Amino acid sequence: MADTKIVIVEDEEALSTLLEYNLTKEGFTTILAHDGEEGLLCIAEEKPDLVVLDWMLPKVSGIEVCRQLRANRETRNIPVIMLTARAEEADRVRGLETGADDYLTKPFSMNELAARIRAVLRRIRPALMDELVTFGDIEVDRTAHKVRRGGTEVHLGPTEFRLLDHFIQHPGRVFSREQLLNSVWGSDVYVEIRTVDVHIGRLRKALSKHGDGNPIRTVRSAGYALELV
Ligand code: CA
Repeated sequence: MADTKIVIVEDEEALSTLLEYNLTKEGFTTILAHDGEEGLLCIAEEKPDLVVLDWMLPKVSGIEVCRQLRANRETRNIPVIMLTARAEEADRVRGLETGADDYLTKPFSMNELAARIRAVLRRIRPALMDELVTFGDIEVDRTAHKVRRGGTEVHLGPTEFRLLDHFIQHPGRVFSREQLLNSVWGSDVYVEIRTVDVHIGRLRKALSKHGDGNPIRTVRSAGYALELV
């Protein structure tokens, strides 16, 4: 859960602070944006797992943010939960038509929001929540902290395990070395950028022992992605 990143776009200071506090307590990594424009920039940069988006926002409205996210190939699949003070059914329908995955009317309880977030994540990306995740012939068992390829156990160090677990949550997505450092090592840890290459190398080597081909693709001047061989 700690590597489940949520961008919160909310202009009301008191509510955004409350959201940040509670979602962090629930184990999510949170990033705050205070208006629609900042929200769009932040989402493009952070590529979060989910967006909590207020309807009424300065600069660019929540509806417009949602529309732009859906129109962009890079952000199209990021789930969005809309927050609104309006209770009208017509707005609810409009919100969902714009591409929001769920909808909460203010005031709402933090427990309710956390439950909705989990439900959306589970529905949209089961790999985020499941104990056992498979991708092609690779299987990650989160409970036992074990990895198998083609049915044979692959021995990985803790960093390689976290790297693979991160990739398998977002198959096909390209991550830069900086993004991998932040997600896998954490932004408060100082590690040299080439450390990522070292661990990618180890992960590839371990995975290649028990299967055909290398599933971690190097994307020139961009980073790495997990892909079917
Ligand atoms: Ca607002």
